[in-house]
Amino acid sequence: MTTKVLNSGSCLCGKVQFEVSEINPTLGHCHCIMCRKFHGAAFSTFAEVKLEHLKWIKGQEFLNSFTADNQTTRTFCQHCGSSLLFESKFNRKDKTIEIALATFDIVEAVIPDAHIYTESKVDWLILNDDLPQYSSYRSI
Ligand SMILES: [Zn+2]
Ligand SMILES: [Zn+2]
Repeated sequence: MTTKVLNSGSCLCGKVQFEVSEINPTLGHCHCIMCRKFHGAAFSTFAEVKLEHLKWIKGQEFLNSFTADNQTTRTFCQHCGSSLLFESKFNRKDKTIEIALATFDIVEAVIPDAHIYTESKVDWLILNDDLPQYSSYRSI
């Protein structure tokens, strides 16, 4: 099942712009240490989309990426530094990619459904929603 929603997005400076036509239903807040560092925030929220449902409007040449030892790749705008994309070996196998939800123009178009990697959640962040919490990766 996917959520059909045409949504556009961009980085902070606007040089990179994209459009997605469908978003996969699993959409978690990730509390892992790497996402924290990448976002410069307490946690990240990534929306998973099939590669075929992601269209670059402009600025692909401004994308730069960092691949960590665990083979996860995080992509950002090299002009303004906005965190944009996440990709793991699971994404590569499934031909999907994860887009930082807050870079969408209509962030409320989809609703997160879980917290993942809560084993590394920061202590001062209190989770008081009813979403399921996974201590590490969610494998569904
Ligand atoms: Zn930018
Ligand atoms: Zn993470």
